[in-house]
Amino acid sequence: MYTLGNYINGQHIASQSGRSQSVFNPATGEAQAQVSLASADETRDAIAAAATAFQSWSQVTPLNRSRVMFKFKALLEQHRDELALLITKEHGKVFSDAQGELTRGIEVVEFACGIPHLLKGEHSMNVGRGVDSYSLMQPLGVCAGISPFNFPAMVPLWMFPIALACGNSFVMKPSEKDPTVPLKLAELLTEAGLPAGVFNVVNGDKEAVDVLLTDSRVQAVSFVGSTPIAEYVYATGSAHGKRVQALGGAKNHMLVMPDADLEQVTSALMGAAYGSAGERCMAISVALCVGDEVADALIAQLQQEISTLKVGPGTGVSPEPHMGPLISRQHADKVLSYINAGVAEGATLVADGRNFVVSQHQQGYFVGPTLFDKVSPDMSIYREEIFGPVLAVVRVPSFAEGLALINQHEFGNGTAIFTGSGEAAREFTAQVQVGMVGVNVPIPVPMAFHSFGGWKRSVFGPLNMHGPDGVRFYTRMKTITARWPNGQAQGNQFSMPTMK
Ligand code: NAD
Repeated sequence: MYTLGNYINGQHIASQSGRSQSVFNPATGEAQAQVSLASADETRDAIAAAATAFQSWSQVTPLNRSRVMFKFKALLEQHRDELALLITKEHGKVFSDAQGELTRGIEVVEFACGIPHLLKGEHSMNVGRGVDSYSLMQPLGVCAGISPFNFPAMVPLWMFPIALACGNSFVMKPSEKDPTVPLKLAELLTEAGLPAGVFNVVNGDKEAVDVLLTDSRVQAVSFVGSTPIAEYVYATGSAHGKRVQALGGAKNHMLVMPDADLEQVTSALMGAAYGSAGERCMAISVALCVGDEVADALIAQLQQEISTLKVGPGTGVSPEPHMGPLISRQHADKVLSYINAGVAEGATLVADGRNFVVSQHQQGYFVGPTLFDKVSPDMSIYREEIFGPVLAVVRVPSFAEGLALINQHEFGNGTAIFTGSGEAAREFTAQVQVGMVGVNVPIPVPMAFHSFGGWKRSVFGPLNMHGPDGVRFYTRMKTITARWPNGQAQGNQFSMPTMK
């Protein structure tokens, strides 16, 4: 059993807070480490280190900051399997899924390598006679990141590579449920040549978060997690004068049109609903079937596929299972209580993931793939985010009613339409009130050079993660208007200046 502390000023620092909690292996239910929960003072130490380091890091040229990112990318690739194994051991997702998470994170580092190009700003020559105007994109200072358990590598990597490349320093507060990988990322940044104090990690809970949201030295906060905490982070950080981007929960619908290729829909839904045990903010948890014929045929195919779906530990078993356990006993119990609620509310339970035992892993947090039919919009299993391997089929009479349901839902993170009709797809993409939309693509996670974010109560704050919005979020613009040569007689000018 080992204890995880903080990473401040380029080194591991054992926490003296006296508070800690266990880190479990979800496949076995065993506690494998302890993570200390940082005190307010320790969090302030990390902010102080970042504030000092910012002074010199912000003066390093974008080209040299980019070179650190190139080395960091090479190290991430070199250590990819070791990191993926750590993710599997603490999160539970299967090894190939953990490798995929790392690939998506590394892509953001690749984007950050292009920072000299991304910070070029804007320039207008001759906005007036002898007058030029140009915009600089300058770093903010100390930025903070707070991330959820479900992507312990990818979500931090959505944030800090761009922040650092833009010239900021950073304090990362990862999920206390799977804290090892973010500490490894800090070590690799140091190995890549990042100066001490530019990137720091505090492991902790609300006590550390509240310091990051209120300390006047922190200029910006990036958050990803559940909607109630996202809303709290946004309100508190904003009230303390910070720039905040806070991404929240989701309930993602797939609209299945009668002309869709049902085999394609079935395999897309299997991965999107049950991959990573449904613990993805872009997982599909509702299939809206247009017409009973589509619903009946789809359910028959899903039932067949579910009967062959393998559930088990994320490593050590060959062939690799399709999905692993949930993150914790508490979360597995919550998912089971939603299945019970669905039954009590009158939905038809087609595949039951309760009482699911994986041999030799009786203490693991496994819930089997679950499928409900005839779910209606008033049921809690439709309205609320379950974040587990539970798929709800809702039958709708028409495209218009399916679209209306999606638009009425509280969340608007991701959605997809499966159809053979370009007209339906075009109408859907134009009208749907959701931030990320797939057309015959079930999990439309934007690539690193685009930006990631939902609509409605899936997001708080105007700027999304990574891509162009990431660069805008981590910089502030300064616009200069300059007259050369100087010395042209202007005379006193009391009216609003206009360019001649
Ligand atoms: P969570 O909200 O419980 O925790 C997220 C972070 O907030 C953690 O670092 C945690 O320590 C901290 N936190 C928890 N309670 C807090 C409190 N009271 N005050 C201050 N900080 C607190 O989320 P989770 O369970 O780790 O992750 C799952 C959630 O994240 C799901 O709702 C999922 O949809 C969402 N998520 C969203 C996206 C997205 O891009 N929109 C991506 C991944 C996950």
